[in-house]
Amino acid sequence: MATINDNYLKLKAGYLFPEIARRVKAFTEANPEGAARLIRCGIGDVTEPLPEACRKAMHDAVDELGDSSTFRGYGPEQGYDFLRDAIVENQYGGLGISADEVFVSDGSKCDTGNILDIFGKGNKIAITDPVYPVYVDTNVMVGNTGEADESGAYEGLVYLPCTAENNFVPTIPAEDVDLVYLCYPNNPTGATATREQLKEWVAYAKERNAIILYDAAYEAFVQDDSVPKSIYEIEGAKDCAIEFRSFSKNGGFTGVRCAYTVVPKTIMGTDAKGDSHPLHPLWSRRHSTKFNGASYPVQRGAAAVFSPEGKAQVSALIKGYMENAALLRETCEKLGLPVYGGENAPYVWVGCPEGIDSWGMFDQMLEKANVVITPGSGFGAAGEGYFRISAFNSRDNVEEVCRRITENLG
Ligand SMILES: *Cc1c(COP(=O)(O)O)cnc(C)c1O
Repeated sequence: MATINDNYLKLKAGYLFPEIARRVKAFTEANPEGAARLIRCGIGDVTEPLPEACRKAMHDAVDELGDSSTFRGYGPEQGYDFLRDAIVENQYGGLGISADEVFVSDGSKCDTGNILDIFGKGNKIAITDPVYPVYVDTNVMVGNTGEADESGAYEGLVYLPCTAENNFVPTIPAEDVDLVYLCYPNNPTGATATREQLKEWVAYAKERNAIILYDAAYEAFVQDDSVPKSIYEIEGAKDCAIEFRSFSKNGGFTGVRCAYTVVPKTIMGTDAKGDSHPLHPLWSRRHSTKFNGASYPVQRGAAAVFSPEGKAQVSALIKGYMENAALLRETCEKLGLPVYGGENAPYVWVGCPEGIDSWGMFDQMLEKANVVITPGSGFGAAGEGYFRISAFNSRDNVEEVCRRITENLG
């Protein structure tokens, strides 16, 4: 008799994106005309083609693999030096991160989930509300929570509300937590954390011996120079923070798959006896045992993001998406709705009109404007009353979405 991991039974069936898919399917089946007009601004996926520099690097790498003199088999599990060095040089210049603290992978979604492998049982976990659902579900899966209540909140998790009042950056909790997930620029709210706010979090983590799991998937969208792109810009963060970054949103690698995690050698955790151990060798061991490296052509493609052509092409992509965000912001502001985000992140976070909740807004946008948005409540209870519009789209689609929002909600 094979037993199962009972924790999986605690997971809520109504995961956000399947529910969106279900409603969209029901709508399109009943309304063929609406279906033909449908524009998706829901899931946070890029839409524009891969930068040419990345495509060329991948083609060349495939050709290398096609010749016995340049063929490569298994690579280093942690990533090729050419990519780790390029990451340090281009992303962490002056921040004191070394290449062997960078672990290349096939995605931040996996990394943010897998990182729990190296932590013990019984850690108190803090997540923001609203939140990227992966952090919650992976904690449920490993048994770090109890059951979900009616509102979908899990027993045992510490929810840190992010609201307009705190500019969508959580207030430092009074209680001790062991792991805290922070994501800035934020998905879904599009908010950023200031240097001062991150300093407070680093001070909290150091004082309480907590570890910050910092998701910087959207760092490339930061336009304002005063906004930190990395947690390591904050002094002391190398003693208490792991950072996750991805090529998905800057290089458009959501379908190509490449990301990396920075585990500084100075971060320590505590064993069952109370002795301290560095996390770096644990993650290194985990990574090389359960992962065999991102593919060679993909790592070449990722490294090309840092070539002069790659940098120019990525900037152009980001500029395009950020112009989309500005158009969406402007449209919603004109309607008198409270608008947040979209200035250093590809997501615009909008307050629903009086008397309409998040799913009500979702249905209205779907039925009247034939536009798919994401209901804020799907990211957590504190997201109720908001909706997220993604700026990941073609300009034509965004202009059309703006017209339809104005016509149907104005
Ligand atoms: C898109 C996204 C990522 C990137 O995930 P990948 O698996 O690297 O594609 C990570 N974190 C957040 C919050 C995201 O929205």
